[in-house]
Amino acid sequence: MRISQLLKSTEYGSKVTVKGWVRTKRGNKNVAFIALNDGSCVANIQIVADLAKISDEQLKPVTTGACIRVDGTLVESLGKGQGVEVQADTIEIYGTADPDTYPLQKKGHSLEFLRDIAYLRPRTNTFGAILRIRHAMAFAIHKYFNDNGFYYLHTPLITASDCEGAGAMFQVTTLDMNNLPKTEDGKVDYSQDFFGKSCSLTVSGQLEGELGALSLGRIYTFGPTFRAENSNTPRHLAEFWMIEPEMAFYELEDNMELAEDFLKYLIRYALENCREDLEFMDKMWDNGLIERLKSVIACDFVRLDYTEGIRILKESGRKFEFPCDWGCDLQSEHERYLVEEHFKRPVILINYPKEIKAFYMKLNDDGKTVRAMDVLFPKIGEIIGGSEREADYGKLSARVKELNIPEKDIWWYLDTRRWGSAPHSGFGLGFERLLLFVTGMGNIRDVIPFPRTPKNAEF
Ligand code: ATP
Ligand code: MG
Repeated sequence: MRISQLLKSTEYGSKVTVKGWVRTKRGNKNVAFIALNDGSCVANIQIVADLAKISDEQLKPVTTGACIRVDGTLVESLGKGQGVEVQADTIEIYGTADPDTYPLQKKGHSLEFLRDIAYLRPRTNTFGAILRIRHAMAFAIHKYFNDNGFYYLHTPLITASDCEGAGAMFQVTTLDMNNLPKTEDGKVDYSQDFFGKSCSLTVSGQLEGELGALSLGRIYTFGPTFRAENSNTPRHLAEFWMIEPEMAFYELEDNMELAEDFLKYLIRYALENCREDLEFMDKMWDNGLIERLKSVIACDFVRLDYTEGIRILKESGRKFEFPCDWGCDLQSEHERYLVEEHFKRPVILINYPKEIKAFYMKLNDDGKTVRAMDVLFPKIGEIIGGSEREADYGKLSARVKELNIPEKDIWWYLDTRRWGSAPHSGFGLGFERLLLFVTGMGNIRDVIPFPRTPKNAEF
């Protein structure tokens, strides 16, 4: 039985077996108390070892970090805050952990230190909680879409097009870097490369996702995404996971409704299914976390025109580090001002200037703005980016020409507008941005098991 189940059991007197990792051991000449954790929940189960039954010699290797098996009897606990404990008959050691070398000795290591030993940090209470919440959110995402008639579409991770436009790309090649084949004009000869052309890791599954929407009606992707952006911020990873729903017959309004409903569903799911882990995170890292989660599901998100947002920012009298004139891309400080100070709830900002948004977004009648939408959240800033897509062949190909996007990369995408085009919309939710919000963590490196960031690809 897992410890999470045992802790709820009331079958006092029954024989049980528990296996897990020792968190602490304390005691006296007569009795030892071992706090054991198996990763199934944040709480430990207490093992009581009577030294009349279990010798000092046997208990010696039972140190912090060691892995053990205990056979014993489940009894009602007299200690406060714990319902049951296990009175040990025998203890078997699976693996010792030398106290002189095992790094996770004391409680309260800094997050920076734990990042350096990311291969061990899942053994801490904090990362156990975060990884369980991460799992629950991934599960809830699939459940939400499955229950709402969306199909999970697997879009490729390796792509030959560099027009996705969402960020700088990592190259994929099997060419020998020390001996590159060259063409006559001295450029790298990619025809000799694995795919016969230059390829990269995807920055978004959207373009392929649109093909799915224009055939299956509603699809979503959920997979790894790669951006070689050299931005060392607490909100950017080089490898992150993104959820991208794409829907035929959805206009911007429908897209906003879906985004709001989806986010609220996920937060509600966390509150209902990850209560203990959230309470732990609230207590240890982010007082007010649970209240914030509840407040977001209780309110209606503000829907605001970009132009109106800029007016509010300019009239705020606030001195920002970056300018915020009409035409500028908003920085996180602007987004957080709107959300945290002005409206005090999430904001969906729409109708951005076309120059700062991707080529595929639907042009508004004003000819200047596009039907983009960014969902802005407290503490995070942008959590979702999306839009209604340009469905008109003429307008889309004109935009492609204007931006000099190579025909060879985009012809197949343009073809979707030649045959059976339809109004459609979609968005991208950064999975780790969602997790920042739900766990209350401040740095995106702490909500993914093995973060990839500039100059760091450890473990
Ligand atoms: P930002 O302005 O924050 O860099 P973006 O405009 O580049 O984001 P999009 O291309 O719209 O983002 O991607 C959709 C979503 O993916 C974002 O709303 C965000 O949640 C997430 N995202 C984007 N880049 C990253 C990254 N480097 N690391 C983690 N999540 C990211
Ligand atoms: Mg970006």
